[in-house]
Amino acid sequence: MDHFLYSDGALYAEDVPISEIAAAVGTPFYVYSTATLLRHFQLFDDALDGMDHLVCYAMKAASNQAILKTLAQAGAGMDVVSGGEYLRARAAGVPGDKIVFSGVGKTADEIHAALSGGIRQFNVESEPEMEVINAIALELGVVAPITVRVNPDVDAKTHAKIATGKSENKFGIPITRASEVYAHAASLPGLEVIGIDVHIGSQLTELEPFELAYTKVAELTEKLRSEGHNIRRLDLGGGLGIPYTRANDAPPLPVEYGALIKKTLGHLGCEIEIEPGRLIAGNAGLMVSKVIYVKSGEGRDFLILDGAMNDLIRPAMYEAHHDIVAVQEPAPGVEQQPYDIVGPVCESGDTFAKERNMPPLSPGDLVAFRSAGAYGAVMSSEYNTRPLIPEVLVHRDQFAVIRERPSFDEIINRDTIPEWL
Ligand SMILES: *Cc1c(COP(=O)(O)O)cnc(C)c1O
Repeated sequence: MDHFLYSDGALYAEDVPISEIAAAVGTPFYVYSTATLLRHFQLFDDALDGMDHLVCYAMKAASNQAILKTLAQAGAGMDVVSGGEYLRARAAGVPGDKIVFSGVGKTADEIHAALSGGIRQFNVESEPEMEVINAIALELGVVAPITVRVNPDVDAKTHAKIATGKSENKFGIPITRASEVYAHAASLPGLEVIGIDVHIGSQLTELEPFELAYTKVAELTEKLRSEGHNIRRLDLGGGLGIPYTRANDAPPLPVEYGALIKKTLGHLGCEIEIEPGRLIAGNAGLMVSKVIYVKSGEGRDFLILDGAMNDLIRPAMYEAHHDIVAVQEPAPGVEQQPYDIVGPVCESGDTFAKERNMPPLSPGDLVAFRSAGAYGAVMSSEYNTRPLIPEVLVHRDQFAVIRERPSFDEIINRDTIPEWL
């Protein structure tokens, strides 16, 4: 459920008409709903009710300061995957002891910054990384809390580019080598081994892969405890999928996911962390764009929008589907027609949808891409010297620009000319 609904024939974000935002900020833009962000966070928090737990929002999904602050004020921790994200989380007021640091390639500088600034734990992904964290901790005279990310060799049954839990993926250490790796970690004086981490992929639409992975984590917890490790925290990653279409094959709900966690891991008495990103932000955001031209091609009509692949890359990158709706609600019974919906970028990959049935649209009409809140704005670029599009946050009947569109001068002046030119 989200808070983007039609009222009196017009699409709203909470109590604000989308057309009003478009008039104020121009198109294209992203718009997020505070109520939807908070609702999704709350669903996870409630799903783990009764267990000692922390929901760490995977902020790579949508990392605007205003979004982080909204979630942090509701009690969310953060999962960060870079030094930049760590600083962003801190700037949004998230204390270090609510930040977990994931990622396969943490640099010495990033580790140093997080260790000196304060960190809940590092989710360590390799033995060389372990050595570096140990050395930096000793140098700083601190002890680094760590989990080791294990790769359970489970098929997440999702798009290949976002599956992370098979043995051929670059993530974590093979679960079969866990004993050896944990023994080594325990021998390093700069580290304190506190738990186990697993994250098998993103946009999972079934519980079964989670069940397989979490069952392996439960077995590993008991094994490592029997080997003398004080395993007391389990970080279960993110990955629960969202409905990108209105079809009825919706992914499992957070409450069902929570029940699975309790069933597979509840008996261990561990503190539980989860790292949802997409499910919190995905359906809390729209990308709004304007029709520039309607062009008749051979056997098809093209809807040419002012938004493009640089603004929302998911269709080009992951063959992702986004529902696209007219901001002015189509009259009941109006005949739809198929369009190829494209942006202005000079690549055929800049196609959002093919033969998509839409009500008749004309230049100047607004359309909204649903489910664009996660992996949307954060993956945008200025390809074709198209300015990064603004982000807007709605809260009831108020809205605020939370990232402005840069001017062309700002973009051009970011480049510097060498002396010899
Ligand atoms: C990307 C990522 C997440 C979030 O995944 P979602 O599918 O957005 O929930 C969580 N943990 C780690 C380690 C990740 O890389």
